[in-house]
Amino acid sequence: MFEQAKKLINDSSTIYVVGHIGPDGDSIGSAFGMCLALRKMGKKSNVIMQNYSDSFSFLPGINEAVKTVEEDSYDLLICVDSSDEKRLDISLEDFNKAKKKLMIDHHKQVRSYGDVNCIDTELPAASEIVYNFLNYLSVDIDKTIGMYIYTGLMTDTGSFNYSSTKSSTLRAVANLVEIGVDFSYICDRLNHTLKEAKLKLIAKTIENMEVYFDGKFRYSYVPYSEIYKLGLDEEDAEGMTNYLRLPEGTEVAVYVRGKSDGTNKVSMRSGGKVDVSQIAIQFGGGGHVRAAGYTMKEDIEKEKQELINIIGGKFKC
Ligand code: 5GP
Ligand code: MN
Repeated sequence: MFEQAKKLINDSSTIYVVGHIGPDGDSIGSAFGMCLALRKMGKKSNVIMQNYSDSFSFLPGINEAVKTVEEDSYDLLICVDSSDEKRLDISLEDFNKAKKKLMIDHHKQVRSYGDVNCIDTELPAASEIVYNFLNYLSVDIDKTIGMYIYTGLMTDTGSFNYSSTKSSTLRAVANLVEIGVDFSYICDRLNHTLKEAKLKLIAKTIENMEVYFDGKFRYSYVPYSEIYKLGLDEEDAEGMTNYLRLPEGTEVAVYVRGKSDGTNKVSMRSGGKVDVSQIAIQFGGGGHVRAAGYTMKEDIEKEKQELINIIGGKFKC
């Protein structure tokens, strides 16, 4: 899988790495893990990222990400953790400046958009593909690179609890622990530290929860005005869906948050019986069986009703 990707890198000197908009731990982890390794290989490399949640600010060097490409053209763009080129955290102009593109992803694919595509839908995180790729490239994975990779592995596997976690993931973790990655610190920062405003957002999400189909489906909408009032930025307003899934008997949970641009972001979680990626794809989004999302562009009440009908239909099957 990595032979052609290695050749692309060997033939390139200036390489940018980009993840998806509203970057999560896996997007950040795989992008920085890749970029820092490329620098070790003597390449000129930077991560392109527009914004990120404060909760990731403990990661060393995260503030060195750039928002734009300064060159008129560059050799290679590595796109990580995004199955959709339209969701990449880069302007179309800067995307088009790349002579070649390498895609590294683990989502259920809609279509590949790279000149070379390293896709493994069996792996739980793009960071695990990057980890394997770095080993293939014989890069020395130091503590900082390891910290990023670990962050990606941990966040996309629900701290190694989701059934998507593979024995290979845990072997990678064992190797990262061996080189001294402070996993306990990363867990503390990402799983056990919360802004007070976010705690209030959890309360709001639960307050607004609607329950359907005997508790099998839970839905909550938080308008942008509430998020703004709490002083939370877009990235901080994510991650509420998991709370909606907690009550016993819940099979699908959906959290919808208003965005500053007037659209509404839908985040879906499933216990596994319903494939939410199929539903997300129907609405123009994507994701995985148990975690998927899309953007509601039209009238929220109408789209909500459509969603309820589709999910209700799944329970009848
Ligand atoms: P989350 O609910 O955490 O925002 O996203 C869950 C999963 O669905 C992630 O793997 C994410 O990449 C994917 N996803 C969320 N929103 C979209 C979207 O609008 N389009 C696509 N293609 N994937 C999405
Ligand atoms: Mn991912």
